[in-house]
Amino acid sequence: MKSATVIGLGQMGSTLARLLLDSGYRVTVWNRTAAKAEPLVAQGAVLAASALAAVSASRVVVICVHDYAATHDILGADDTVAALTGKVLVQLTTGSPVEARESDAWAVAHGSGYLDGAIQAAPSQMGRPDTPILLSGNEATYREHEALLRVFGGGLSYLGPDPGAAAAIDMATLSYIYGASIGFFHGARIAEAEGFPVDQYGALVAGIGPTFADFLKYEGEVIQSGDFSVGESPLSISVEATERIARAARASGINDEFPSFASDLFKRAAEAGLGGEEIAAIIKVLRVT
Ligand code: NAP
Repeated sequence: MKSATVIGLGQMGSTLARLLLDSGYRVTVWNRTAAKAEPLVAQGAVLAASALAAVSASRVVVICVHDYAATHDILGADDTVAALTGKVLVQLTTGSPVEARESDAWAVAHGSGYLDGAIQAAPSQMGRPDTPILLSGNEATYREHEALLRVFGGGLSYLGPDPGAAAAIDMATLSYIYGASIGFFHGARIAEAEGFPVDQYGALVAGIGPTFADFLKYEGEVIQSGDFSVGESPLSISVEATERIARAARASGINDEFPSFASDLFKRAAEAGLGGEEIAAIIKVLRVT
């Protein structure tokens, strides 16, 4: 019978354990607060008496806890570390690239395989054919355990052998989401101040999603190629657009922090002589720290 251990039974870890049970795995679980295991035990999971027993129970140990420090609190005891030898640790806790690389080095030094993942979905969205999960680490280890990982979500992206890649690209995509979200909320403030229904504005933004996604994909290709000659949108248009949004915010007395920030960035790009290049040339400003 296929088996796995899941350590950490918060919102996400419990979901991962339940998905494995639903897929016919023999699942051993452990959580600092044992009571959280009860619904899973009722579903057939085995509650290990200790983290050591949990690690010992299965070849694959999935861990999903608050942060990497918690991982080391749980797995750091000498006997538990020793039990990792010959196992595969799948770290699905969110963290930084440095933490992921350190975790990989630590696991490998103790004779364990290691994969690092970043879950890009909420617990209720797990287990779907398109649930996005980024994975990185040793490729042979990933291929060997891909079927198990697919139980958590069909939208797996393997990002290569650098164990820090999943955490890095998780941060990169979150940057995009937060940037777009703040822009969206400034737009909601414009709509609200202008007496336009904000739910209708939201629906219009959702409608431009696929077109905007294509545009961003293209801009990523431009940066990767290093050829910033204008193909879609000259940066100068955005200098004017962001300045217009900032000016309008000030004129109508609404908060102008977001458009002023964007406008300042584009102005600096224009001052650096990038106005006649593709908008992706803004990265040349961002390369300066
Ligand atoms: P959660 O519900 O708050 O659960 C946190 C888990 O970490 C619990 O099992 C908790 O144990 C354990 N924990 C915290 N500190 C610990 C320590 N010092 N020693 C031992 N165990 C400790 O969080 P979650 O939503 O499951 O998230 C878990 C991971 O998934 C996080 O890294 C999060 O970023 C990631 N994630 C979550 C979501 C989401 O929407 N929930 C989405 C994507 C990624 P106790 O039960 O004993 O407190």
